[in-house]
Amino acid sequence: MKTYDAVIVGSGPAGMGAAFELTQQESNISLLILDQEKFSTGGLRNDCKMNFTFPIGFPLEYWNEVQAKNYLKKVSVFLKPAILQKKHLEIYQQRSRRLDVNLIEIEQTHLGTDGGLVLIKKLLAGLNTRGVELSLGESMIDIDSKRKTLTTSGRTIGYKTLLVAPGRKGFRFLQKLMDTLDVQYLDNIVDIGIRIETKIEHYPIVNDYYDPKFHFPEKVRTFCTNSGNAHVVKENYTTVHGEPYCSVNGHAYSVNHGKENGLVNFALLKTVGLTEPLASGQMFAENLGVQAMLMGGGKPLMQRVGDFRLGSRSKTASFNDDLYDFKPSLRTCCPGDISLAMPARILRAIWKAMKKLDTIVPGVLHPSTIMYYPEIKLYANKPQYLDEHFRVNGSIFFAGDGAGTSRGITAAWGSGIRAAEGMRQYL
Ligand SMILES: Cc1cc2nc3c(=O)[nH]c(=O)nc-3n(C[C@H](O)[C@H](O)[C@H](O)COP(=O)(O)OP(=O)(O)OC[C@H]3O[C@@H](n4cnc5c(N)ncnc54)[C@H](O)[C@@H]3O)c2cc1C
Repeated sequence: MKTYDAVIVGSGPAGMGAAFELTQQESNISLLILDQEKFSTGGLRNDCKMNFTFPIGFPLEYWNEVQAKNYLKKVSVFLKPAILQKKHLEIYQQRSRRLDVNLIEIEQTHLGTDGGLVLIKKLLAGLNTRGVELSLGESMIDIDSKRKTLTTSGRTIGYKTLLVAPGRKGFRFLQKLMDTLDVQYLDNIVDIGIRIETKIEHYPIVNDYYDPKFHFPEKVRTFCTNSGNAHVVKENYTTVHGEPYCSVNGHAYSVNHGKENGLVNFALLKTVGLTEPLASGQMFAENLGVQAMLMGGGKPLMQRVGDFRLGSRSKTASFNDDLYDFKPSLRTCCPGDISLAMPARILRAIWKAMKKLDTIVPGVLHPSTIMYYPEIKLYANKPQYLDEHFRVNGSIFFAGDGAGTSRGITAAWGSGIRAAEGMRQYL
């Protein structure tokens, strides 16, 4: 059995941030990164727009502004952002304030899905020159914290210190680890909502501000806006009981890649936290995903705003008719009625937000605009961390989106650095 000084599970931004920090501070370290996928590295592969302003991506229970700013400086060294310019911000902000909406000014950069791949190659080459071993297509399965070993899909590995950063998709795996390691946890919030797709001319703010962050009342927010050569995509998940369901998401290519389709997509998400009686937020969200599959014959639902306003379901013709002058970028959805599948409380809050948004940026409620459902974001239950470096047990640390310490690329990278600072004590 080979033993490493440090093992990192997950080659997403959290894992990368930790790897660069450890190799920077400890030049002779033996470091292994495992990833279950045959390619690296997690969420940097999707769209890769990066936010460099607190609080975007930083869960407030783990970060304050001073801390986040400090880590963002370190993150910038590796991700080298070329910050996008914004125009007419004051006009949009003034309109927003009148409606009790907050438009947050964020420093952003956008590499696009193709640009993200170029960045990943550079980062991996950087880790390679620092002597980091990367094992792709190898999953962590289990852990023996007393013997300081972990079992993977192919072998047993020893570690002095371990970081588990398996991302949002790995939230169930983290849950299992928390149970194995006797880590106490609290039920986490979930984000549930829809993805909007429309022509750029109906949401022209994206010409002035690439990913505008609107925060509405009732914990509704815009999230992950993509435009130009933008596409809605489908992600497949399985519930704790093994039932399949889908969530939609979105990404865009950079301006250098292919022909623009003239579309924009973004999520409108409502944060839901269940308290009394305490039930599992994740199971609630998964059930909604399964319900949507039932309504959509195994596919996500899509509905034109025009049909929604008239109280009718969308039909195949709603997506052919020349009145509705663009085709959905995600074709494998079922035309339907999202209000049959969504809880009223969530739908009402999101529809109110859409009406406000249409006042701030007139046009987004054009009848042709498409609402895709569901978009679901799950996070692991909140572990009770033993220190400010996200240590959960002995020399074991968790970080990144799955562990609830981040909700985006830059904060995930920052979480990785923060964990690595703690891991150094165990080398
Ligand atoms: C379609 C899409 C678009 C997005 N667009 C943006 C964006 O534009 N900007 C932004 O800031 N954020 C975006 N995000 C979110 C962003 O990807 C995440 O915030 C970020 O990647 C989280 O980093 P992480 O390191 O925690 O996890 P991840 O990046 O998810 O990496 C986790 C890695 O762990 C691996 N793994 C999981 N379990 C195991 C296991 N048991 N053994 C071994 N390996 C394992 C996974 O294969 C994965 O590679 C997007 C996400 C998606 C899905």
